[in-house]
Amino acid sequence: MERDAVSGPGTGLSIEPGTLYVVATPIGHRDDISARAVALLSHVDVVAAEDTRHTGRLLSMLGLAVAQVSLHEHNERDRVPVLVERLKQGEAIALVSDAGTPGISDPGYPLVAAAHAAGIRVVPVPGPTAMVAALSASGQPTDRFVFEGFLPARAGTRQERLRNLATEPRTLVFYESGHRVVAALADLAQAFGDDRPATLARELTKVHETIRCTTLGALAQCVADDADQRRGEIVLVVAGAPESATVASEERLREVLDALLPELAPSRAAAVAARLTGTSRRAAYRAALDRAERDDPEA
Ligand code: SAM
Repeated sequence: MERDAVSGPGTGLSIEPGTLYVVATPIGHRDDISARAVALLSHVDVVAAEDTRHTGRLLSMLGLAVAQVSLHEHNERDRVPVLVERLKQGEAIALVSDAGTPGISDPGYPLVAAAHAAGIRVVPVPGPTAMVAALSASGQPTDRFVFEGFLPARAGTRQERLRNLATEPRTLVFYESGHRVVAALADLAQAFGDDRPATLARELTKVHETIRCTTLGALAQCVADDADQRRGEIVLVVAGAPESATVASEERLREVLDALLPELAPSRAAAVAARLTGTSRRAAYRAALDRAERDDPEA
């Protein structure tokens, strides 16, 4: 199907046929949608939406009548090839999720990957994402950070994940839900220490927006004591481990491995050392192999 590019009103942009637009939408405040996003949504052939009823409300608030097709984690496998075919036929498609940037702890990645694999142009239309909004207002260092998404729901798996992150020197960003934030903050304080600086960013851009910048211990106490602080959507931004903690932990790992390696195989020594020092198994194994090789270069 031959299609012409369409110009978006007032944006100086054109909507290209056969292109996948990845469009960010508000995370709360309805005015946080860009003029470019509105122009694109009004001109694409179809909007691939995580929840068509939810996106329908956004589109009708913007006064737009656009065809939608649902694309969520339960139908992605079947829908992606159909959408790629439509793109190949020359349709312009906008991918949106319920809130924020598609693909960021939301559906979207498989369609984007499949579009690239099929040689289709993918164009980001940037806008809100809770992770960057929280980080930017957190007061924690923003020059280097890691986004960890949602922590595992199961306590044991979550605690193991956090032990592995305890010496991460970059700022850490986590998504959390109100009903798990008490457990998550208790585990964070346990793994990283009560005194680690941290920010709780809740209901960003909404009426009850709260940004509380203190320590993990104080935040754990605050959400345990005050049910209001558990309501709504939450991002936790945690300062990275101080340099001294990373160095001390590496030294401790070396000491433990020195004691274990004469007695145990590297994999076993690494597993025990990881448990004793809170280092990740992978890092402990790498260190164990390095030390085993240093002690016996012929091995
Ligand atoms: N795609 C979204 C984005 O770009 O941020 C994230 C979707 S994810 C399913 C939902 C999680 O994002 C929530 O549980 C919360 O952790 C975070 N979140 C979304 N909106 C938020 C807001 N207004 N304030 C705080 N956190 C928010």
